[in-house]
Amino acid sequence: MFESANTATARQETGETGTALPAMDRWEQLCAILHAELGDMAFRSWIEPLAFSSFSGGVLAISAPTRLVRDWVKAHYSSRILELWTQNHSPATRIDLTVATTAPAKKTAAAFVPVAVANENSASESAQPALPDTLSSQLDPRFTFDNFIVGKPNELAYAAARRVAESDAVAFNPLFLYGGVGLGKTHLMHAIGWAIRARTPERKVVYMSAEKFMYQFVRALRSKDMMSFKEQCRNVDVLMIDDIQFICGKESTQEEFFHTFNALIDQNRQIIISADKSPTDLDGLEERLRSRLGWGLVADIHPTTYELRLGILQSKCAMLKRNVPQEVLEFLAHRIAASVRELEGALNRLIAHVELIGRPLTVESAEDLLRDLLRSHDRRISIEDIQCKVIAHYNIRISDMHSPRRARNVARPRQIAMYLAKVLTEHSLPEIGRKFGGRDHTTIIHGIRRIEELMATDRALAEDIEILRRAISG
Ligand code: ADP
Ligand code: MG
Repeated sequence: MFESANTATARQETGETGTALPAMDRWEQLCAILHAELGDMAFRSWIEPLAFSSFSGGVLAISAPTRLVRDWVKAHYSSRILELWTQNHSPATRIDLTVATTAPAKKTAAAFVPVAVANENSASESAQPALPDTLSSQLDPRFTFDNFIVGKPNELAYAAARRVAESDAVAFNPLFLYGGVGLGKTHLMHAIGWAIRARTPERKVVYMSAEKFMYQFVRALRSKDMMSFKEQCRNVDVLMIDDIQFICGKESTQEEFFHTFNALIDQNRQIIISADKSPTDLDGLEERLRSRLGWGLVADIHPTTYELRLGILQSKCAMLKRNVPQEVLEFLAHRIAASVRELEGALNRLIAHVELIGRPLTVESAEDLLRDLLRSHDRRISIEDIQCKVIAHYNIRISDMHSPRRARNVARPRQIAMYLAKVLTEHSLPEIGRKFGGRDHTTIIHGIRRIEELMATDRALAEDIEILRRAISG
């Protein structure tokens, strides 16, 4: 039996799905999945501007309109693109990303270029200079109070945000919101912005990341335009600065921010700040700024609970008018606990797959579709976790992990901890070395080798390590 070369190629390229979609359609299908996974903003900035050229010999040829887009996609999305192509079509081993030199790009990403990136690349790529009156970043229409699910972990932050948004007199100044990544700080700030704009459109509301503040400040310095920058910053009714931890350690930016901050407080204008830590825990912050930041109300957002996560998933499904089986939602709420952003990403991915590929959703298929995400989520073991378990097991002190002492009773457990750090985390050898009192990576290699040798001959030690490994992996 012979089949023509064409049929064979087509079969090979379509993989298991069995439908021979033209490559262009497959690319569009993949884009739709990425759109759902990444959200509008990132999709429009980075994926939409790409042009698909061809797929052959396992190589996806794609062109980007600028070097910036090419580098960003290469660094952040290439492995996911390969994975999706392989999963839904046929094995793709490499992406050939080029910069289109001739054809003018239909859609430009410049308007969405994140500030830090634009900053780094400002020599080669032109980020559109902001118009004089566009100090504020756009507010995301999805981030409203209506779309925010309130539970125990975020009720204080939510109540404070509402109060600030709804009172005519300045309520707390500043309102300082803090909490871990993806727990809703940005969402609450945008919600405040929307609510104030709706209630009192004449008030000038400015929202921006601390990164953008710094970027604008540096640009003003460079173009000798400080006066107008100061004027703009001080001429607002409500100033919201997101992720203030970004300016920690950046002295001149802090200085400028401090003055802006004082000027606004003096005029009784509302300031809202967010950070990943409380003012007292932020490192690299000038003392006087730190104390001012704590003047008003400091509200923290705690890690989500299972109930809150389930509530968020249910409301999200209702919003998207999608039916996802309850047990799948429970599975997600149970397994993806770190951030709401990841939780939403997982749900979006499931929904996109159901729509595009048409597989029915069960807990098993969800587990399958989210395997990479669940694995990386489960795998987040820190070197500190490992050290803690090891010292408890051998009844030594944490300082023994860092000290230069070579006595066998501390040196051996230390090497065991190094070995476990290598096999259970993604950290590099130099990173591991730093966590063990700044040891050189060759010392770490030596320690790991030693343990591997011993495990081959010493049954008791091998068992000990296995027990530790299980205890650490949970
Ligand atoms: P942060 O700024 O704290 O890192 P975000 O505000 O960007 O987190 O939130 C990440 C994502 O999770 C956003 O899409 C946001 O809408 C969503 N989210 C977070 N908390 C909630 C909540 N309580 N209710 C609904 N959506 C939430
Ligand atoms: Mg944020």
